[in-house]
Amino acid sequence: MPLVETDAIVLHAFDYSETSRILRLATRDAGLQSVLARGARRSKSRFGSALDLFAQGAAQLHLKDGRDLQTLASFDVTRSRAELGEDLGRFAGASALAELVLRFSGADDVSVELLYVITDALDRLSIAPEGHSVDATLSGAWRLVAELGFAPSIDLCATCHAAVDAEGDAPFSHRAGGVLCARCARLYPGDRSLPAAARRAIAEWSGGALDVGCDDRAARAHQRLLREFLQHHLADGRALRAFDAWEQGSLVAR
Ligand SMILES: [Zn+2]
Repeated sequence: MPLVETDAIVLHAFDYSETSRILRLATRDAGLQSVLARGARRSKSRFGSALDLFAQGAAQLHLKDGRDLQTLASFDVTRSRAELGEDLGRFAGASALAELVLRFSGADDVSVELLYVITDALDRLSIAPEGHSVDATLSGAWRLVAELGFAPSIDLCATCHAAVDAEGDAPFSHRAGGVLCARCARLYPGDRSLPAAARRAIAEWSGGALDVGCDDRAARAHQRLLREFLQHHLADGRALRAFDAWEQGSLVAR
């Protein structure tokens, strides 16, 4: 069984049996992996307290072809991101970002660039000031969407590539993959209209801006738009549970 050592981030974790944990890892060299961490729940575990959600470090994995569940040999944590667990908004946002990666990247498909964006998005969220975790999550989510290769068209019509008026409202279609010119909008009746400020915010978030200064009402509209956008791109139709919890949690918090 080959032993692979690679950078890894814990994106999902749950207890398994009396003593073990199962983790979903995004790794630099082995894509997404589900691993069994034997003995991780024992008080004198060789994993220490490293195996918490969103921790990052050097993992050693025993990989065997054809297996859904691999074996974690060791995990040397370099960033625990304990701050994400100290604030409900940050934690819910990080969970939504992790879900986005798990649902939208292929099993073998974690590029170095994608791993960088996940790392940076979680780092930024872990230091987001109180009241700014929704902004930081929206920013991380749109950057992930861009890195995963299905960013919406914002400045040009998604269908005919004509320039769309940058100052006014523009029709936005999940089906077409972005904004539409007036002519193409007739092909997609019933889609929403997106104000120029909202389009600018998505473009800025996608490019890595952290705080684009949108108020609570705009942030709620952005959460709704992002949810609809992601749902449209989901092949299997299963709910985005962590995303829904993040969206509803930030409603309660306000
Ligand atoms: Zn067009």
